[in-house]
Amino acid sequence: MNLSEQLTAMQHTLEQLSSDLQEMQLQVAKLEEENERLRQRITPVINENKDTAGGQKALQQLYDEGYHVCSAYFGREHDGGCLFCMEVLKNVTN
Ligand SMILES: [Zn+2]
Repeated sequence: MNLSEQLTAMQHTLEQLSSDLQEMQLQVAKLEEENERLRQRITPVINENKDTAGGQKALQQLYDEGYHVCSAYFGREHDGGCLFCMEVLKNVTN
C-alpha cells in the first residue's frame, strides 16, 4: 500500500470512528434521559414506602449495592459515605 492509499484508509477509519462516537453519544443521551425519568417515577414510590419494614430493607439493600438513596442523587452510583443517604437510612431505621 502506498502512502496515498494508507492515508485514504486512515481517513476511512477516522470517519468510521467519528460515526461510531456520534452513535454512542446519542445512546448515552438516551440512557441519561431514561435514567432521569425512572428516578422521577421511583422517588414518590420510595417516599411512600420508606417507613415500612420492606421499604427500609429495600433502601438499605440499594445503598449496599452502591446506589444513592437520598433525594439529591437517588439511583446514581456512590463511592460510600454520602451524608444525605446516611440521613435517609438513619430516619428509616428509627
Ligand atoms: Zn446519597
